[in-house]
Amino acid sequence: MSTTECDVLVVGAGIVGLGHALAAADAGLSVTIIDRDRRPVGASIRNFGHVCATAQTGTLRDLALGSRQRWLDVASRSGIGVRTGAGLAVARHIDELAVLDELAQTRGSVRPLTALDVRDEIGGAADGVVGGARLLDDLRIDPRTAVPTLAAWLAERDRVEIRWNTAYHGVDETQTPDVVVRTSRGAVRAGRVYVCVGHDLDTVAPSVTDEARVARCALSMMLTADPGIRIDPAVLTGTSLLRYEAFAQTAAATALGERLRARRPELMAADTNIMFTQRPDGGLLIGDSHHVEPTVDPFLDEDVADLIRREVSSVLGVDLTVVQRWQGVYASRPDGPYLTAELAPGVRACSVTTGVGMTVGLELGARHVADDLP
Ligand SMILES: Cc1cc2nc3c(=O)[nH]c(=O)nc-3n(C[C@H](O)[C@H](O)[C@H](O)COP(=O)(O)OP(=O)(O)OC[C@H]3O[C@@H](n4cnc5c(N)ncnc54)[C@H](O)[C@@H]3O)c2cc1C
Repeated sequence: MSTTECDVLVVGAGIVGLGHALAAADAGLSVTIIDRDRRPVGASIRNFGHVCATAQTGTLRDLALGSRQRWLDVASRSGIGVRTGAGLAVARHIDELAVLDELAQTRGSVRPLTALDVRDEIGGAADGVVGGARLLDDLRIDPRTAVPTLAAWLAERDRVEIRWNTAYHGVDETQTPDVVVRTSRGAVRAGRVYVCVGHDLDTVAPSVTDEARVARCALSMMLTADPGIRIDPAVLTGTSLLRYEAFAQTAAATALGERLRARRPELMAADTNIMFTQRPDGGLLIGDSHHVEPTVDPFLDEDVADLIRREVSSVLGVDLTVVQRWQGVYASRPDGPYLTAELAPGVRACSVTTGVGMTVGLELGARHVADDLP
C-alpha cells in the first residue's frame, strides 16, 4: 500500500481529535483524520452535549472558557446549533440551595433563581423545587449531530481529508526521524501526529496508560420519549453538585454530601450524576451512573437504569418512557483531568480522563497545535 503525506495526521474523529484537526486546518496546514469506525460512535455522541464551563475550576475552567468561544465560533461557521446560558441547577433541598448561593457570591455566571423561576424552566409539574441557579457560561449542543456535523464540515474544507474505517497501527520506527504512521490502509507520513482515541489509548499506548493509572469509566444512559415539556438548558440536580469542582469545593457541599450518603445511599452507591438535556425532537437524554474498572463490564444494570429514570421523573413531576439505553465509556484516572504524552518524536497522544471532553476538547486541541507549530 502507498504512503500518503500531510502536515498533520489526527487519529480519532471524536471531539478531541476534531479539536486538533480544526486548529490545524485553521492554521492553514494540510490535515488527514483517520478513524477506525465508519462514523463517530464514541463518547462524543453518547453524552449530554453539555459544555459545562460555569462549574469548573483552575485549568479546566480556563480550558472550558476557551472551548466555549471555540464552540460559538465553529457553530457559526458550520451550522451546528448551540444554546448559550444553557445550564440550570435545580435545588430540591435547602443544602443544595446553600451550595448554589455560596458559589454565586464569587462567580458572577451563577445566577440564583427562585423556585417559581425554576419551575417555569422545566415545566409546572416540577416536584419539590426550592430554588436553583442559571449557569450562564454553559452551552448546550445536540451530541448526536454536533460531532458528525463538525466532521463532515471539516472534510469539505480544502486540504482536509477524513479516512473512515482506517485504524492506527503505530509508528514506523524504521523511518525515524521522519514521522510515519502505519494504518490499516497504508502508511501516512506527517509533520505532526495527534493520537486522540479516547479510552482506547489503553490499547495503542498501554505503557503510557499503565503509568498514568488510566482506567475506563462506564456510564448508564437513556433516551426518553418527548415528555411534552420544552426544557432549554442542561439540567443538573443535587448529585451533580458533588461532582463538578466549583460546587463540590464550597463549604456548603459538606452538608449536602452527608445528607445524600445518609438518606440516598442508592444514588451514591451507583455514583450517580442525575442530569438531563433535551434533544431537538423533544426526547430527553437522561443519566448517569459511573463505574470505573480497567476493562468494564458491558452489561447494563437495570436497577441503576430504573433509579435514574425514577429520579429524573421525580424532578420533572412526569412519568418518563425510556426508548433507548446505551453505555458510554470514557478514560478515567485518579489524578488528572487529561493526559498528554509524547509517544514518539512528533507523535502526541491526548485523552481527556474525566467526563468533560465536550467542555474542554476544542481548546485542548487548539493549545497543542499552537504549541507545536513550527
Ligand atoms: C455518557 C457520557 C456522558 C458525558 N457527558 C458529557 C457532557 O455532557 N459534557 C462533557 O463535556 N463531557 C461529557 N462526557 C465526556 C465526553 O463525552 C468525552 O470526554 C469526549 O467525548 C471524549 O472525546 P474523544 O474524542 O477523546 O473520544 P471519542 O469520542 O470516544 O473518540 C475517539 C475516537 O477514536 C477512534 N479510535 C479508537 N481507536 C482507534 C484506532 N486504533 N485507530 C483509529 N481510530 C480509533 C474511535 O473510533 C472514536 O471515534 C460524557 C461522556 C459519556 C460517556
